[in-house]
Amino acid sequence: MDIMETQEQNNISVVPRTEILCPGCGEKLQPVDLESCPRCPYCDYEFTSDAALEDFVLSPVIRRWLRNLQQNFPNC
Ligand SMILES: [Zn+2]
Repeated sequence: MDIMETQEQNNISVVPRTEILCPGCGEKLQPVDLESCPRCPYCDYEFTSDAALEDFVLSPVIRRWLRNLQQNFPNC
């Protein structure tokens, strides 16, 4: 319990996965901002297209997909 709390405090700078901070200008970006191309719409910072970024961009899609899946297969 105590260990969990300490870890959460250490991660306090981690932005919730619903948004990401642009390293170039510090603007908060939503997944939809990077959906069409992985560039910051404010400063044109080019994000490295890695697995973490893909997860971030796809996270709303995946959440929707999982919700549909649960509705279609409630026993899963
Ligand atoms: Zn930016």
